[in-house]
Amino acid sequence: MIYLDAAATTPVRREVLEAMWPYLTGDFGNPSSTHSLGERAARALADARARVARHLGARASEVTFTSGGTEADNLAVKGIALGAPRGRHIITTPIEHEAVLESCDYLRRHHGFRISFLGVDHTGRVDPDELAARLSSDDTLVSVMYANNEVGSIQPVAELAAIARAVKVPLHTDAVQAAGWLTLDARALGVDALSFSGHKLGAPKGVGALFVRGRVPLEPLMHGGGQERGARSGTENVAAAVGLALALDLAEAERETQAARVTALRDGFVGEVLRRVPEAELTGHPVHRLPGSASFCFDGVSGEAVLLELERAGVVCSSGSACAAGSDEPSHVLLAAGFPPERALTAVRFTFGGESTEADLAAAATAVEAAVGAVRSLAR
Ligand code: PLP
Repeated sequence: MIYLDAAATTPVRREVLEAMWPYLTGDFGNPSSTHSLGERAARALADARARVARHLGARASEVTFTSGGTEADNLAVKGIALGAPRGRHIITTPIEHEAVLESCDYLRRHHGFRISFLGVDHTGRVDPDELAARLSSDDTLVSVMYANNEVGSIQPVAELAAIARAVKVPLHTDAVQAAGWLTLDARALGVDALSFSGHKLGAPKGVGALFVRGRVPLEPLMHGGGQERGARSGTENVAAAVGLALALDLAEAERETQAARVTALRDGFVGEVLRRVPEAELTGHPVHRLPGSASFCFDGVSGEAVLLELERAGVVCSSGSACAAGSDEPSHVLLAAGFPPERALTAVRFTFGGESTEADLAAAATAVEAAVGAVRSLAR
């Protein structure tokens, strides 16, 4: 099987699993316990937090471990909005992950927040000038993803953060897809909150982290024993936090080499697909895109049908995000980028990771040509 769905999830790295093992077995203590077993767990958790914080340019006290990207996004959006001393207006984009969009919608329905959406161009990018024109110091929060999970476009997050900082409105960025490809240094980026998830990086599913700058008030969503400095009650998943920290250490150490290697592979793959498949269009931004992301619209086919053909040929990919896949609904990202619904339904997404090879991608390009050809000939 050629796995080209790394944006949906990645396998747990062996080193990560090995680092986690002791905290699932012999050193299984609860970090809140005062005996030595608890203290060892607490030390492992503190070490994991310090390592994550270092990559984020943050203090350890600004990092909260969560159950993944969805929870980190929920805590950022709802926690900052509900903790804010003023304002009831959030500015976001129509191409965010559902974790952000649905959190905003919850705040609209239950807490009277107004939600505004920045426009995106055909490549799925926002215009910082639009944010500058629409943002005022009465606003509560700006939430703009770092990189999009469907088309891979990277947003000008540092520029957006500078605009928000000038009027003292906190800016959150969903960095779930950016992690491992782009710097997560939240201080250098100038963002006030940043969320990411372990399973896109070779850590297990069900762990993530949220950075929130110290001075930004955060209302917890989970109430209980007051763990994570009160930001997120619940006995900490020590092993997963240890795994997340190691996965991030490894990804950061390899980031530049991997990004260069995978960009070259991706460009080769994109070139081959566009050469072999008539009326194929690369979606997302041609330059400001994640190294591991190539998504296309193939005129006149159903993306889902192409997916089935590809799977038969041993190539696994996705017709959009993993969450939206199989829903028969056109991608909200492509619709927002101005694609007509019938064209959005022709989308197929290929995402690569550390394990992808040139031979895999050459074989995949041949399989794509055959799969699109087969679906088109059936449709005629
Ligand atoms: N945000 C983005 C951009 C994503 O791509 C995803 C998952 O695909 C999430 C948030 C949710 O992360 P998790 O699967 O860890 O809940």
